[in-house]
Amino acid sequence: MGADLRDDNLLAAYDEARRRLVSYLETEFPRFSWRVEAAERRAFMPLGALDPVELLEIAVAEKLRRHWDFVLLIVPNELTPLHGPSSLGIPSSALESAVLSTSQLGAGDELVSRIVALALHLLGHLWGLEHAQTGPMRRVKGPQSLSTEPFPPDQRVQAEHYLREVAASRLEEERARWGVVSFYWRTLQKDARGIAESIWGYKPWLLPLYLGRLTAAAAVSVVYFLLTADGWALGGQLSWRAVCLLALLGVSAATGFLFAGQDLGKYGREWAWREQLARTRLVVMGTLTLGIVTLWLALFLLSLAGAWLLPRPLLREWMGVAPAPWAIVRYAVFTATIGVLGAALGGNLEEEREIKAELLIDEEA
Ligand SMILES: [Zn+2]
Repeated sequence: MGADLRDDNLLAAYDEARRRLVSYLETEFPRFSWRVEAAERRAFMPLGALDPVELLEIAVAEKLRRHWDFVLLIVPNELTPLHGPSSLGIPSSALESAVLSTSQLGAGDELVSRIVALALHLLGHLWGLEHAQTGPMRRVKGPQSLSTEPFPPDQRVQAEHYLREVAASRLEEERARWGVVSFYWRTLQKDARGIAESIWGYKPWLLPLYLGRLTAAAAVSVVYFLLTADGWALGGQLSWRAVCLLALLGVSAATGFLFAGQDLGKYGREWAWREQLARTRLVVMGTLTLGIVTLWLALFLLSLAGAWLLPRPLLREWMGVAPAPWAIVRYAVFTATIGVLGAALGGNLEEEREIKAELLIDEEA
């Protein structure tokens, strides 16, 4: 797919790259039949940087509409960088989509072979491959480092394994009508390990670090509750069962709230059940849940340390009784719960794009 292409040379290069990609895939993975279709969209100006997250959303919509297994969206524009100084390509294995920019890839034959190399690198990410010393999965350090060498044997085996799974009939073709729960359950059962690996790959425990405003909102509520007499009077009276139940509810509510508030569940505007879509939602939900659990643990430790430092006579005055050590632990559970709820509210103020970028994108190549 391309954005507002009027340059015939560029169009010819894209077309040639597509042909070479097919022949490469046919040689490397002869057990599969490959079809690389092209579709054009001319919705953007060819100048200026484009937001890769928006492009990914367009790519996914197209992928669902046309029943493609993977989609590579190629644009002549630069991509707005997310973390690094610049980006050539952005893969999202959760969405089985990638965006690649040809702005820095040169011209002529060089351009064609670099497009193929970058496409292979991004496809490798979509197939769950890690970076390697040789082959297309070498870490991308700039246009010069792209190569169209064959995949090393172990990576080829791994990719074939993944592709076999994809080629196996998609669930929606097996039965026309599914209940919501049974459909998600079947999707989870079919590839539980793959889904868990995808979630793990997103390093959900780093999520609180990336979402600064969310974490700040959480920390503020924890500190507030630590230094408020009313908080101690209320939280100090709660039983273990109450604080644990609250913690469980708080974490689920915060996750659900973020998931719903950020439109994270909405990809493609279709009614039909889509296994890939269900898989994406499960991955996003899982990543978000683990991220929130990590945040809860961090807040718990912060609150525990804070409470320990407060002078005991002050706490006695606030709680009305002499504070036992376990009462302080219980109070830390309570404040951490309040903290994640605060975070969920703060998180909805966070730029939607930032949250999506953290949850959906594998790397910036
Ligand atoms: Zn990479």
